[in-house]
Amino acid sequence: MTLHHDGDAADDQFRDDQARDDQARDDQARDDQARLTELLGRLSLDEKVQLLTGRDFWTTHPNEKIGLRRILVSDGPSGVRGEVWDERSPSLNLPSASSLSSSWDPDLARRYGAAAAVEARRKGVDVVLGPTINLHRSPLGGRHFEAFSEDPVLTAELAAAYVHGVQDNGVGATPKHYVANDYETDRFTASTVVSDRALRELYLLAFEKAVTEAHAWLVMSSYNSINGVTATENELLETPLNSEWGFDGVVVSDWTGVRSVESAKHSQDLVMPGPDGPWGDALVAAVRAGEVPEASIDRKVLRLLQLAARVGALDGFEPIAATPTTVEDGIAFVREAAAAGTVLAHDRGGAVPVDPAIVRSVAVVGHNARFARTQGGGSATVLPEKVVTPVEGIEQAFPDATVTYSVGAVVQEGVAELPLDRITNPETGEPGVRVSFRSGDDELFSEDRRATALVWFGGDAPIERSDTVRFSTRYTPEVTGEILLGVASVGHSVIRVDGEVVLDGTSEAVGDDLGAAFLAPPSQSAAVAVVEGRPIDVVIDHTIGASALGGALSYTFGIEPDDADPSGLIDEAVAAAAAADLTIVVVGTNSKVESEGFDRTSLDLPGRQDELVSRVAAAAATTVVVVNAGSPVTMPWRDEVDALFLTWFGGQEYGHALGDVLTGAVEPGGRLPTTWPATQADVPVIDVTPVDGEVVYDEGIHVGYRAWLKAGTTPAYPFGHGLGYTTWSLSGLDVTSTVSAGGAVQVAVDVTNTGAREGKHVVQVYASRLDSVVDRPVRWLVGFAPVVVPAGGTSRVEVTVPARAFADWRDGSWAHEPGAFTVHVGSSVAELPLEATVVLEG
Ligand code: BGC
Repeated sequence: MTLHHDGDAADDQFRDDQARDDQARDDQARDDQARLTELLGRLSLDEKVQLLTGRDFWTTHPNEKIGLRRILVSDGPSGVRGEVWDERSPSLNLPSASSLSSSWDPDLARRYGAAAAVEARRKGVDVVLGPTINLHRSPLGGRHFEAFSEDPVLTAELAAAYVHGVQDNGVGATPKHYVANDYETDRFTASTVVSDRALRELYLLAFEKAVTEAHAWLVMSSYNSINGVTATENELLETPLNSEWGFDGVVVSDWTGVRSVESAKHSQDLVMPGPDGPWGDALVAAVRAGEVPEASIDRKVLRLLQLAARVGALDGFEPIAATPTTVEDGIAFVREAAAAGTVLAHDRGGAVPVDPAIVRSVAVVGHNARFARTQGGGSATVLPEKVVTPVEGIEQAFPDATVTYSVGAVVQEGVAELPLDRITNPETGEPGVRVSFRSGDDELFSEDRRATALVWFGGDAPIERSDTVRFSTRYTPEVTGEILLGVASVGHSVIRVDGEVVLDGTSEAVGDDLGAAFLAPPSQSAAVAVVEGRPIDVVIDHTIGASALGGALSYTFGIEPDDADPSGLIDEAVAAAAAADLTIVVVGTNSKVESEGFDRTSLDLPGRQDELVSRVAAAAATTVVVVNAGSPVTMPWRDEVDALFLTWFGGQEYGHALGDVLTGAVEPGGRLPTTWPATQADVPVIDVTPVDGEVVYDEGIHVGYRAWLKAGTTPAYPFGHGLGYTTWSLSGLDVTSTVSAGGAVQVAVDVTNTGAREGKHVVQVYASRLDSVVDRPVRWLVGFAPVVVPAGGTSRVEVTVPARAFADWRDGSWAHEPGAFTVHVGSSVAELPLEATVVLEG
């Protein structure tokens, strides 16, 4: 898909540039191979095998003899955490992938990748562990927020652009998780049962494009099995990835995903994390015994060396880019991207944008307005320096209005960390906490932290040598009354307040996913009477044991929300709304609902938020609802409110972006990358729970809107839907009349902005086929192009659709069924006013 305004000349230029780049890359690769092979020859078998397992959580082994330094990899994908999970080394928190994909804007995805690369280089990181390009097969998928879309073409375009953005700036990108890893339940053991056709047409498509077009330097294999064979030993790693797509990079495992020596015979190249793992000495022995060919070790090492050469970790090789070449202001970019990903789902009678000059009072309601989720949970988490909350953003956007805040409903489950401005480190007198790791009575290590939600995952803390960890802080309460002071962690903790034991308890891991137990542990708390402004000394002793995962530990302490009077909270919010000119309700999910390691069980908003919105909407003059969720939720009240924004996890500038779109300083640029259902029961493909160890993708190629169309069910908001602040008309559709199997269809359309302000339109092109010899979707996305048009202006937009978009995978290859396809053009899968026919030649 390309967008050209200058017609054929630009097209030719683009192709020439592409060919020149490809040629230069091939020449360079040939030259490199010879030199890398020479370096390989200098390594012993033990040295080679050592390189194939990480040195620790995030780095690979160096080898001085050949001038190889370590390679540092880091999550992402919505930011770059760096070597330590530590608030003292903050990272740019980009909007979630589901926000980025809502922009339908490959150029924004490229800039997003570039912003990640800039962060990576700032933190000494060589490889970003992203993008996540699994599909939104079911809205219950726990990592939905981290992936782009239910549609393979939209995912593929954005994935390729993201990879380009990262790698053009000299950092490796890692499309993940290969493949069919679209759910979290039993993620280490479940097998996805999926047809070759669905794999090729859907689940592999974005990987194909990320490799063949963006030349990704790594791919991460997944935890799950595909059709009974674990991903790290699966033939799919060779075909199509290597043998058909020409992948010349490193297949890195998902963390602990390699389970056998046997996997070394396959196209799995690197085991992470290290230093222990199933390869090591066992693999050396297997090679010596002739069970694993040395050639397969050599192939892996060569790939690793090639990666090192690309990122500048190997002496004598020029890195692709020693420093990032595309650097822009990260904070400004996050703000722009969050607005570009905001979907205005509905606007009754032009309720938005709101002119700040005429609003005297704004009632802001909702837990997430103050404690917004700017990113999803799990390994994707980064720690930003500062988050702009919706309340702050709204206050700044409406400077002359009185802004009130009411929580309305409790959303947080478990303890929430204590605010930094309320805690004092007793040792330093600075804001924060003293943490000390102990063995018996000896303090082995201590550090001063600036948060009470802490993760050690890499870094210097001697987790494995310590038996307890002590947290000490002085907390100044914000209220008078009882607070629920507690901890979130697996295992035993004792909390003392002013020397008195208030809690002495143990909590067990829920479920058997260690990752989930680690990153979203259970909470326990005790009631403590406090007085506003009168500090209490809090000392917590935690027994390290069940809570540690190898050398990693996660621990949060703070306050559990008090939900003793839910009706009272709603009443307060309703009263505030009734008194205001404008009410903005921010509803959303919490970290127990959307995170890595588990799937969702319900699409409902947690707590009493549905009741809250209905009650507020009935009382308020104007109600604008903002949904702060990384994936679809049901909104039974959606027709009761005046305007509805779906804002995903908006990154650290979330509040500013919200202020921008509310006031119309910026148009909300989002279109849904995934169908939003009216009810959970309507969702045609929902199941994520393995039965007898298998998740059967028996819907085949009918996923997302394709499944909705097949079922004939109308969702709340269809795929591709999103309003802006102007109006549009499409005309003058022109489509190539015939196309050969190797060719491309040119789709051109006039996009006229019929409104009074500049706006963005996303031209969406779908195909359909009557009387096909194979089962096909009712219609499917084949291309798209975002365009910005001034008020009253017209742009001719061209979308190039490769004939492959009409092909189906049949009997082991792409089949091009000759005959007529209909091309539909419009603004969502449900609104396609223009159509034309293209004939695929036989
Ligand atoms: C996740 C990966 C991540 C890795 C390292 C795994 O649990 O599935 O996406 O890159 O951990 O943090």
